[in-house]
Amino acid sequence: MKRRPTSAESRTPGPVRNLVLVLGDQLDRRSSAFDGFDAGQDAVWMAEAAGEADYVPSHKARIVLFLSAMRHFREALAAEGVRVHYRRLEDPENRGTLALELRAACRVLKPRKLVIVEPGEWRVREDIRAAAKKAGADLEIRQDRHFLATHEDFDRFAGGKKQLRMEFFYRGMRRKTGLLMAGEKPEGGRWNYDADNRGAFPKEGPGKVPAPVSFLPDSITREVMELVEKRFAAHPGSLRHFDWPVTPGQAGKALRDFVENRLFLFGPYQDALWTGQPWLYHSRLSSSMNLKLLDPREAVQAAAEAHGRRSAALACAEGFIRQIIGWREYVRGVYWRYMPDYIGMNALGASLPLPSFYWTAQTEMQCLREVIGQTLEYGYAHHIQRLMVTGLFALMLGVVPREIHRWYLAVYVDAVEWVELPNTLGMSQFADGGIMASKPYAATGKYIDRMSDYCRQCRYDPARTDGGSACPFSVLYWDFLLRNRDRLARIPRMGLQLRNADRLAPAEGRAIRRRADALRDAIDFREYRP
Ligand code: FAD
Ligand code: SF4
Repeated sequence: MKRRPTSAESRTPGPVRNLVLVLGDQLDRRSSAFDGFDAGQDAVWMAEAAGEADYVPSHKARIVLFLSAMRHFREALAAEGVRVHYRRLEDPENRGTLALELRAACRVLKPRKLVIVEPGEWRVREDIRAAAKKAGADLEIRQDRHFLATHEDFDRFAGGKKQLRMEFFYRGMRRKTGLLMAGEKPEGGRWNYDADNRGAFPKEGPGKVPAPVSFLPDSITREVMELVEKRFAAHPGSLRHFDWPVTPGQAGKALRDFVENRLFLFGPYQDALWTGQPWLYHSRLSSSMNLKLLDPREAVQAAAEAHGRRSAALACAEGFIRQIIGWREYVRGVYWRYMPDYIGMNALGASLPLPSFYWTAQTEMQCLREVIGQTLEYGYAHHIQRLMVTGLFALMLGVVPREIHRWYLAVYVDAVEWVELPNTLGMSQFADGGIMASKPYAATGKYIDRMSDYCRQCRYDPARTDGGSACPFSVLYWDFLLRNRDRLARIPRMGLQLRNADRLAPAEGRAIRRRADALRDAIDFREYRP
């Protein structure tokens, strides 16, 4: 039987030319870090660090996904004969942080050079740089070819503009990739079928939705699950349903399953929500792409081909492709252009902590109970659940952006800071003052009622802003407009909403502000600590 190495070394150490550093979200054998790799002289370094799991209180499924995918990647490298210096979480000598582990590895291996693909998080990049410097090692940071746009591409797009808009960036990406193009023009005559992506289900719901392909935990994953249950017992989330892809092979299978079975309805129901239906027609591919198990080019190519053979309408293929070559690339551009200042932005001066129920789902608001409950069960919620339920409530309540950012970074299996932060701070909290979005996504409970069945099962009424059944979302919506009136008046696209707020009689406005304050007073804000 093949013995699985248990300590830091998968082969006896010896002199190392290049030590290739591979982080948990860089699991791509074709990445630039491996350019010129020579198994005879070079080695790979990987480390499981508790510090990465608990600098925000990560969902257990998020920790399992990263550790299991890393261990599978290490196995694949070792099977190729690559020397891997791998530190497991449970190794008694594990020092707990990437920086300390790297310095220790440098002391033992004395590599001539460290090579890494640009990390996806500003903090990690700085830590690695500092650790290399302290160890006296040369560090080469290589470009991340996983992405279709380089930092220079984004800077060329953004340079000189007062306001960035995803739509124009996206058109450039369509031209660059040639996807869904008929010569210089977009296929079908329109760049964007967003308006066709906002359907709600009929009253009786979505009916039978094809279940996504499921990957039962193998022995490596089961071992990690046991470790996480023990080591991170107090962390949020359940492992009951863990079935995420942890290898490139599984990620490819998940892509094929999505394209064959759900893409054809992804377009119309992208924004719809339904009780007990966490996946609906979504792809569940974000974690595979973010860990680099799946190349985004493969994903968009598969969608374009499905449209080509008429198994997906243009609005479905375009909607999916827009999310990947548009939004995903755009948020990365925003992250690196505006960090490190971005993380501290708070344009609306929000000042409240995060309500405790974000960690427990114990609230009478059915929409929040459902979305947070599902998040804790699966480590997943789709975009509109994140933007228009949990994000919307925090925005209108007035939660400090950095606090809600910590939550999103902790609870989703796909959470990596370059993609999570601009979506949270920019798109959902408008904390960047309009870099990401042209206006805050503020809405009453009627939006949630239109897009879901949540309100039917709720003790509140989305149409009411007074009395015992007043919907907290609807109360907070008017309070948000009144409270931030001066700041919002500078945003041209807020004109209509502000004019409606101005129509409220002064006494009614005062009453709404009082009700919103009472609502805040009733919320438990005790901090969650694992
Ligand atoms: P689908 O709905 O099937 O979409 C297909 C793909 O498009 C996704 O896999 C994803 O890679 C990409 N995509 C879609 N929307 C976005 C977007 N707004 N930004 C970037 N890529 C997008 N996505 C993450 O990958 N990690 C995060 O940590 C994350 N945090 C978010 C926080 C907030 C507050 C919001 C509003 C959105 C966040 N998103 C994040 C974006 C989006 O919600 C997820 O990418 C999506 O829900 C993942 O599910 P899926 O793979 O089924 O996506
Ligand atoms: Fe949410 Fe209000 Fe609808 Fe209840 S009534 S589910 S709180 S939007």
